[in-house]
Amino acid sequence: MSTFNIVVLPGDGIGPEVAAAGVSALKAIGEVYGHTFNFEEKLIGGIAIDERNDPYPADTDAACQAADAVLLGAVGGPKWDLQPKRPEQGLLAVRKSMGLFANLRPMDVPASQAFRSPLKEEIVSGADMLIVRELTGGLYFGKQTRTEDRAVDECVYTVEEIERVARVAFEAARKRRNKVTSVDKANVIETSRLWRETVIKLHKAEYADVELEHALVDSMAMHLVTRPKAFDVIVTENMFGDILSDLASVLPGSIGLLGSASLGSGKGLYEPIHGSAPDIAGKDLANPIGTLKSVAMMLRFSLNLSAEADALDAAIEAVIKAGQLTRDLGGTLAGSEVTKAIVAQIHAAK
Ligand code: ATP
Ligand code: MG
Repeated sequence: MSTFNIVVLPGDGIGPEVAAAGVSALKAIGEVYGHTFNFEEKLIGGIAIDERNDPYPADTDAACQAADAVLLGAVGGPKWDLQPKRPEQGLLAVRKSMGLFANLRPMDVPASQAFRSPLKEEIVSGADMLIVRELTGGLYFGKQTRTEDRAVDECVYTVEEIERVARVAFEAARKRRNKVTSVDKANVIETSRLWRETVIKLHKAEYADVELEHALVDSMAMHLVTRPKAFDVIVTENMFGDILSDLASVLPGSIGLLGSASLGSGKGLYEPIHGSAPDIAGKDLANPIGTLKSVAMMLRFSLNLSAEADALDAAIEAVIKAGQLTRDLGGTLAGSEVTKAIVAQIHAAK
């Protein structure tokens, strides 16, 4: 029995709906397993710009630094697209401030769900990969300069930055199928050459028991849709990971099914991989499962509650199997009804 302090950042669009689902699941886990979860809600993104003129206010930062874990909904929306202050700046700021250098996105397509995929069933059925994306380096954090007719984005990586994220990938592989695919563009880009050299050295020194292969990002994009079952853990730099993980996210048939964990040296941040989905916001249509999968990772990685994490994952599976689905999966239930079914399953299973 323990007490945990969770900061909740609902954000924009469907963010508040899915974050509420995450809170419900944690409360149910608390009731069933005898833990206390204290929740503190804070502003981030567009709503924080509206209310505070700042996408990542100082009190949000202070709360995130002090929390045991952070649950995020989603940020952004057309309302802020043309404003000088952007909701997405809030996301970059929280990642940097919490030192979240590794973004983990598990993606799997159980045989029973493969028919939902836009790809051929036999290509995706049984695919099960974990993409580990470097999150605080590279182009997205490099110096940017601009004149009227010229723009520069600096891409910087250090050995230390590459090593620490590669280590996350190798450690994860040891708990899975023991294979890492490191993705770069070492035939063209200097940071990619350092990336590959560093991964090779680390592998030799500490992880020789793990199978390691290297792929160029362009051919990797092709392989992800032609032979997704070939991959276990994929590790790559910030921008390549951004693109490849969105690509991989279409394989299971709905972006609403996938969660993510962002980890660093300290506390973790957990969020569904989808965005704020303004087209369905406020209608109780959002699939909560991506957020609930993220909550399961929070239980596992940040709170050390692996039995509780397994129970949540099992409850999600049971509800999917029972056909209690939102519209993105061909069902008719509201998002909140799916959450209720999963909460009931958590109680029933214990
Ligand atoms: P962002 O720029 O924030 O990533 P986006 O518009 O690129 O936003 P999403 O907000 O993820 O992407 O939405 C993409 C599509 O997927 C939309 O049609 C949206 O309705 C749908 N979608 C996203 N999340 C969910 C969800 N949880 N449940 C059902 N449909 C969803
Ligand atoms: Mg998007």
